[in-house]
Amino acid sequence: MTATGATPPCDLCGLELERGDFPIHTAGQTLHFCCDGCREIYRLLHQPQEQPPPKERDDGR
Ligand SMILES: [Zn+2]
Repeated sequence: MTATGATPPCDLCGLELERGDFPIHTAGQTLHFCCDGCREIYRLLHQPQEQPPPKERDDGR
């Protein structure tokens, strides 16, 4: 059985985001990664121009 496309694949390794979504927000698009490792590797390889994520909640810190 294959995925129905409800979950986008990791933009680095292509696996499904089974362990959660690790996004990078850039101007115009959001990239999704299956783990923090994939996200960090993508950053090193492509050095995307990251934007702050859309404001959805307050992280009271
Ligand atoms: Zn991955």
